[in-house]
Amino acid sequence: MPHYDLLIIGAGAHGSAAAYHAARRGLKVLLLEQFGFDHGNGSSYGASRIIRYAYDHPVYIDMARLAFAEWEAVQQTVGEQLMFKTGGLDFGPRGEPVLENMIDSLTKQDIPFELLDTKEAAKWFPQFRFDDAFAVLYQADASLLAASRCVLAHLHLARQHGAVLMANVRVQRLQVAGASWQVHTEQEIFTADRVIIAAGAWANDLLAPLDFEQPLRPVACQENYYELADMRPYQVGQCPVFIAHLTQDYGFPFMPYGLPSVNGSGFKIALHGGPDFDPHVAERDVDRGVAAQMVEFASRYLAQPVTAHQSSRVCLYTMTPDEHFILGSHHDYANLVVGAACSGHGFKFSNIIGQALVDIAFGEQTRFDISMFAPGRFAP
Ligand SMILES: Cc1cc2nc3c(=O)[nH]c(=O)nc-3n(C[C@H](O)[C@H](O)[C@H](O)COP(=O)(O)OP(=O)(O)OC[C@H]3O[C@@H](n4cnc5c(N)ncnc54)[C@H](O)[C@@H]3O)c2cc1C
Repeated sequence: MPHYDLLIIGAGAHGSAAAYHAARRGLKVLLLEQFGFDHGNGSSYGASRIIRYAYDHPVYIDMARLAFAEWEAVQQTVGEQLMFKTGGLDFGPRGEPVLENMIDSLTKQDIPFELLDTKEAAKWFPQFRFDDAFAVLYQADASLLAASRCVLAHLHLARQHGAVLMANVRVQRLQVAGASWQVHTEQEIFTADRVIIAAGAWANDLLAPLDFEQPLRPVACQENYYELADMRPYQVGQCPVFIAHLTQDYGFPFMPYGLPSVNGSGFKIALHGGPDFDPHVAERDVDRGVAAQMVEFASRYLAQPVTAHQSSRVCLYTMTPDEHFILGSHHDYANLVVGAACSGHGFKFSNIIGQALVDIAFGEQTRFDISMFAPGRFAP
């Protein structure tokens, strides 16, 4: 029975980063993934994700400082551009609470930003149309991460440092074996001193039998890619990423957001949320209504009309009640760690969350404050 220092379950953004950081420390690491690598069933695949400082909570701004630096380091190491500086816009009605809190947090944390009136904003960013009632926040450091490539880069580096990576191996259950864990799969049983569960929307399948169930709510979020009449201003390098703080009053059930086209992906527009979804269902049906609603968004807030709907795909968010992450160890077993529920905004931090999960597993200090991510915080 092969024995490892650390076994990681899940090769999404978080598990792959954990595997890299653990293997880099010289640990004997095994990573198990139930599907193929870079599969389309979870949360981490696709063309692009946003990384930004513009958050309404200071802990995330601290984390973003570390994450930006770490992505720089990873792309240097792997020799491939993973992060594309675009700048980022947050716009919405003046006085909108999240926007106000962002302004406050960025100011307190000394992150430079511009607050533009709509005339200035239209001059700086002619790709967009802003209502007169909008406030427009521009933060120049915001960037696009080439999502699937980031995950594959971490897996590649993990392998280079000696980690064993196995695809199409589903963990069925975990069992305590003295001071170690037995990890049961259909094919064989592995043992490890420590285990990290980075199983995304499926995490409770493994956590619940260990009396460690978390209040996770997987939801189906659809990313949509469009061709616009003139695509030149909407390419990465020309166009900022954006978050539109426009919900019910503007006819959108969740905030629309978008990213420029990268490597021919098309201009991406999506909603930051979606309906509840059972991750065990294999079909990921595209909702044409959502795709049409994003065309409606484009007709109101983009300068160029949509000329073609290139593609849409369903991806999963795993939400917690407070939309903060769950990072920490089991109440009875310090050598069992969960990293889950990245509530639709975890990708940008996955490099430093992966690192933190390894730190937690080995009882070491994490590089950022994880107190608000404690797994026990929802216990009655
Ligand atoms: C459309 C969309 C847009 C997003 N945009 C952004 C953004 O702009 N910026 C941002 O920061 N974040 C964004 N996010 C959120 C971010 O992508 C997620 O927080 C992150 O990818 C979650 O990664 P994960 O590793 O926790 O989960 P996953 O990627 O789902 O990985 C979990 C893995 O565990 C595997 N697994 C599960 N159970 C088992 C088992 N029993 N045995 C073996 N393997 C198992 C799964 O197959 C899966 O591969 C977005 C998410 C979506 C869906």
